[in-house]
Amino acid sequence: MRPEILNPLFGETAAFKGVGKALAKPIEKLRLTRVKDLLYHQPSYWMQRKRVDVLDEVDVDETIIIELTPVDYKSGGPRSPLRVQATDKDGNYISLTYFGRNIGWPKKLLPLNKPKIVSGKLERYGDELQIVHPDEVLEPGQSGQIALVEPIYPLSDGLGNKRMSQLIEQALELVPELPEWIEPSQLVGQSWSKWKDSVIALHRKDSEAAQERLAYDELFANQLAFMLVKASNRRKKGVPIQGNAELRDKLKLPFELTGAQKRCISEIEGDLAQSAPMLRLLQGDVGSGKTLVALMALLNAVEAGYQGAFLAPTEILARQHFESLQTLLSGLPINIAILTGRDKGKPREATLMGLADGSINILVGTHAIFQDKVQYKNLALAVIDEQHKFGVSQRLMLAQKAEKTPHLLAMTATPIPRTLTLSQFGEMDVSRIDELPPGRQVIETRVISENRLSEVVDGLARHLAGKGQAYWVCPLVEESEKSDLAAAEERAAMLQQRFGDQVGLVHGRMKGPEKDAVMERFQRAEVKLLVATTVIEVGVDVPNASLMIIEHADRFGLAQLHQLRGRVGRGSEKSNCLLLRGEVLSETARARLSLLRETNDGFRIAEEDLRLRGAGEILGTRQSGEAGFRVASPEQVTAYIGTATDDARLLLDRDGGLDSERGKAARVALYLFEKDWGVSLLRSG
Ligand code: ADP
Ligand code: MG
Repeated sequence: MRPEILNPLFGETAAFKGVGKALAKPIEKLRLTRVKDLLYHQPSYWMQRKRVDVLDEVDVDETIIIELTPVDYKSGGPRSPLRVQATDKDGNYISLTYFGRNIGWPKKLLPLNKPKIVSGKLERYGDELQIVHPDEVLEPGQSGQIALVEPIYPLSDGLGNKRMSQLIEQALELVPELPEWIEPSQLVGQSWSKWKDSVIALHRKDSEAAQERLAYDELFANQLAFMLVKASNRRKKGVPIQGNAELRDKLKLPFELTGAQKRCISEIEGDLAQSAPMLRLLQGDVGSGKTLVALMALLNAVEAGYQGAFLAPTEILARQHFESLQTLLSGLPINIAILTGRDKGKPREATLMGLADGSINILVGTHAIFQDKVQYKNLALAVIDEQHKFGVSQRLMLAQKAEKTPHLLAMTATPIPRTLTLSQFGEMDVSRIDELPPGRQVIETRVISENRLSEVVDGLARHLAGKGQAYWVCPLVEESEKSDLAAAEERAAMLQQRFGDQVGLVHGRMKGPEKDAVMERFQRAEVKLLVATTVIEVGVDVPNASLMIIEHADRFGLAQLHQLRGRVGRGSEKSNCLLLRGEVLSETARARLSLLRETNDGFRIAEEDLRLRGAGEILGTRQSGEAGFRVASPEQVTAYIGTATDDARLLLDRDGGLDSERGKAARVALYLFEKDWGVSLLRSG
């Protein structure tokens, strides 16, 4: 159970003073429903105010506090703003400008010839200086009430900065003193303060050290939880697998395995032979041949008399894997079955029976294969494809599936930078397929302005006439899903006008069977041009499709573009990728696109992606938790993840039960960052 000391931090902000219905929505949107969420809501920047006597002392764009005397009101009519003309002590003019129809209240606030203290951002309007909607207007002598630095927070409609500050002030009143989980020497070395002081400093002064400490806490708790998984896994009894290679020898492959595949296979074999269950991540770019590596592991298990399961993220991929495995395994004495949410009735019953009595050796399917009703006779190896769609908790759940914990092989085509691998898959060992099978065609990538759409369509026409197939991807931005869908439909309609029923459309709102039907027609080349929103991102294999067109490519992330591009270049034909870009590009968008033009190396793209996202990070996106961290920035993940991992490992080496004083404090950190499952592993040992 969560330590009592943390309870105030998990209290609901809905109970705060001044939080009514109107605030519920923005609070929800910013994910600030609990006290601790507010405490970790970091300022996006600090506004600096300058106290001055006369306007000559400051530059435009500075935020100032100054005494001014209103001398005249000017308004050019009902539609134009009210301009309160005012002078500083030297008689310099400035206009305090108020928009809106009600001009009564600014006049009341700023009566003529009465000096006032005014604060706001100085701007130039034509030849005049002005402040638009001063943020403070006070009596002379009250200027001390205005803060010289003020945190400006990520905000949302209906929740302005003042209100946000008030909420955070209320949260700060509830901050408890927490025991220290950071090693004292490190605290001193980094000049970090205690947790409570750091939380307070985060909101009261522009303190880098405070923010850093809190970010480190987050990374430390994360890595500690992973290390606990790893440690508890090591204590578990699994089944050592050492097949006699009989099946693997019979497998007829039309090609040589690459060196990288061989290396990964032997790393996996080494793990499987142990009784401690394997926890391994297999990373390899699209087309690097991960399936075969997984198959070798599965055959190993079957040779040794066990069952294996292969989990795919979607129905389509499950079927595709099932079919390609069936083809590869034809002629071998192996029973392979498929199970997805769509398999119902008698066939489903038969599959369940086969799993329970052991007559099915390998099961392929979607997450349905790990539901409670699915009982295996002796599952010894689970393979998860496209790991990034599965969270840690799902990985843990999986481990509970069999009497003896099955070995786990997770596969991902997203080449993840090393630091992110540690922060997202810290408990796993990593194998990398860093080499593509020989003879792969390089995909030629070009960046083209959307203005040249008709040329692109002409090129597409030539491609289709030459019996090629192609993808056309339209972006899907979550916020306006509807209108983007409309855009995709419109694009499909336009292309249909030219290419008739060779064109198919798939999008995220389609029902599974409907979508699969289109995909299958594309696979059978009945559909030649597949217009899609990003639903095709993951794993579909159509070797004859050698042209990829991505509209508004500047709206996609690097990794995503790389994944999409990986849909082509799978056949013997030379493949092309056209990235259509909008007129105006941000600097990072430009950098992303030119990197793609330059290289096909997924690992390099991933490292750059991290760097660009770090550098070009839009304020507030950190809160969206893309990398799963709320406090730590991407740069901080890179800078501290290694230390945090070592630190966590060291703590567990010395105090595996987290019973020491520091160990107990570390438990608090785990609960604070909601790694409750980490602590539960500790207890069940
Ligand atoms: P991914 O890593 O993207 O899952 P796959 O396992 O689907 O890649 O392999 C992509 C294609 O490459 C498949 O058609 C597969 O048969 C082929 N392939 C795999 N290994 C090799 C190899 N060593 N040499 C040639 N082709 C290979
Ligand atoms: Mg694959």
